[in-house]
Amino acid sequence: MAKRHSHLWEKSLKYIPGGVNSPVRAFRKVGGTPIFIDRACGCRLHDCEGKEYIDYVLSWGPLILGHAHPHVISAIKTACQNGTSFGAPTEREALFAQMIAEAVPSIEKVRLVSSGTEATMTAIRLARGFSGKDDIIKFEGCYHGHSDSLLVKAGSGAATLGVPDSAGVPEDFARHTIALPYNDIETFVRAVEHNHETVACVIVEPVAANMGVVPPKGDFLRTLRDYCTRYDIILIFDEVITGFRLALGGAQELYGIIPDLTTLGKIIGGGMPIGALGGKAVIMDTLAPDGNVYQAGTLSGNPVAVAAGIATLKVLLEENPYQELDRLTRMLADGFRRITQKLSIQSCITQVGSMMSLFFSNETVRDFQAVLRADSERYRNYFHGMLSRGIYLAPSPYEATFLSTAHTEGDIQRTLEAAEESLRQI
Ligand SMILES: *Cc1c(COP(=O)(O)O)cnc(C)c1O
Repeated sequence: MAKRHSHLWEKSLKYIPGGVNSPVRAFRKVGGTPIFIDRACGCRLHDCEGKEYIDYVLSWGPLILGHAHPHVISAIKTACQNGTSFGAPTEREALFAQMIAEAVPSIEKVRLVSSGTEATMTAIRLARGFSGKDDIIKFEGCYHGHSDSLLVKAGSGAATLGVPDSAGVPEDFARHTIALPYNDIETFVRAVEHNHETVACVIVEPVAANMGVVPPKGDFLRTLRDYCTRYDIILIFDEVITGFRLALGGAQELYGIIPDLTTLGKIIGGGMPIGALGGKAVIMDTLAPDGNVYQAGTLSGNPVAVAAGIATLKVLLEENPYQELDRLTRMLADGFRRITQKLSIQSCITQVGSMMSLFFSNETVRDFQAVLRADSERYRNYFHGMLSRGIYLAPSPYEATFLSTAHTEGDIQRTLEAAEESLRQI
């Protein structure tokens, strides 16, 4: 059993580039060999060497109900038995679209796709097609999937590997992307006033969660909204992480700022591959077949994924767990604050609802540059200390810590005990 991971890792390295199907999984930023997962239930992961962990990655955000929630699994089973894909409309898709439109303030109509990347890529194309303009504004450290125009200063996996921009993205594409510092209102205002004639859209994570969790300060989101309205620029909230995580209506409900388009993914698939983009009907109707912006997908609106999504949203609607999630996550964040103070470790702890980050930093982290200044060597040691004590954190300092409804106060206590031991040792 004990050698199982290194054996599996060797085999993976032989047949899969870098041994993984998504780069951050490779442990490059923390060193060592990834653990291989055998199964999971609730907030517990079990690896192939028989070890159990409390999971704070939750498949990078989707599993707000924890792993293998009985309602979700039962919906998936039932859906499978009736066929896994039709490439034709189903009743379920109409119901799902209605549920999303009723929950998310900015959404009148919604198109389903198969990943968050596809959702943001399509939202950008739609914004360009609708406005007739080519440039986009994004913010450093915000990740919007791996399509060409959006893979500029993109945080997350790219930051983990230390490649700010990807090879293979033609300069001609990147040229249309203006990347600005997150939370910097003056720079944004200057950029918009200078470029508004060519800017089709502003895309932002309303709470940045791909450079660790960096909350929007003061009137950052309000300013984006005001200037986009003033200059007829489409405002896109990328709520692939925050949608149905911070509230049923996502960050836009929490902060009371309504974008023109919203992208969703992760939670709305209940752990199955899905993405969505939605917004005002006048903009959404510019998509084919009504409009001239083309978008399509063989597996779009896949019946199994939609069934998992509906089951997840139903539980969230019935239980409305957001206050309780916030309370538990606050307990974890407060615990980290207490411990780092006691041990005189410089830290900045951020938390919004059920997501948080511990930065080993001596400043308040407000943007990507501050994230990069934090001590990633200390994170590496902390990560391995926690892993050996049965706590599974993201194998990178640039990712969020997520809670689910399956985590309990007991899990939080155990985690804080492990954190104190780990931090004492480094
Ligand atoms: C994960 C993520 C994406 C990309 O979604 P995929 O399903 O991985 O393609 C886009 N935007 C944000 C904010 C994300 O967190």
